[in-house]
Amino acid sequence: MTSPALNTPPNGKIGPNAVIQLGHAVTDRLGQAEAVRVFSHAGVPDMLETPPEDMTDERVPVALYQALWHVHPKEAPTLAHDAGVRTADYVIANRIPGFVKGILRLAPQRLAQRLLLKAIKKNAWTFVGSGQCETTPGSPAMITVKDNPLVMPDCVWHSAVFTRLFDQLVARGTEVRHVCGKGDAGLCKFEVTLPDAPDGEKDDNGPKTKRLRNQSRPTVHELPDSAAFFTGHWA
Ligand SMILES: [Zn+2]
Repeated sequence: MTSPALNTPPNGKIGPNAVIQLGHAVTDRLGQAEAVRVFSHAGVPDMLETPPEDMTDERVPVALYQALWHVHPKEAPTLAHDAGVRTADYVIANRIPGFVKGILRLAPQRLAQRLLLKAIKKNAWTFVGSGQCETTPGSPAMITVKDNPLVMPDCVWHSAVFTRLFDQLVARGTEVRHVCGKGDAGLCKFEVTLPDAPDGEKDDNGPKTKRLRNQSRPTVHELPDSAAFFTGHWA
């Protein structure tokens, strides 16, 4: 059985983890037989055993997430969230060099936020496919995805990816709110709110932060353009 989503004309390509990590999430939480059901319903039964290794047709994860909501409507939000967290963890472990992680974690929150937003925008094609991503720093910061191909209830997969990236690389407790606006058809918005800065932390040039109390902290001038560090496809 082939999903209707696979019969539409090709659009973009998306990182293979949009497929791989969903397989892991469903297998770990519900067992292999249920994962087989989801992948079969999506018309890609072989991809559970032999997942894509490189950028893949975005219609595959679109079909998979439609199948997920069809086969497991109750568990789908949790499973999609889990898959998003796993995708971010993969990116953090494999796509971001250690010294960049160090810079992001040591830099003041707002500077780290700006650097990560830049990197997200630069690498967005790997997790928004044919959509277009824009980022705006601020409080809250905003990530928008126009024509998001992987739309789902509350866009839980993208929300989980962004939340996990900020939580692990910028500040624990960062909240990401999905605010797809009425009247903004096809435009997904994600508000990124950092937790309150710890006592003594000021903005980018502030002298103190708890995270850095005993370490020398990079200054703005020492920080290279983060976008240059992130190579290869992310997700
Ligand atoms: Zn959305």
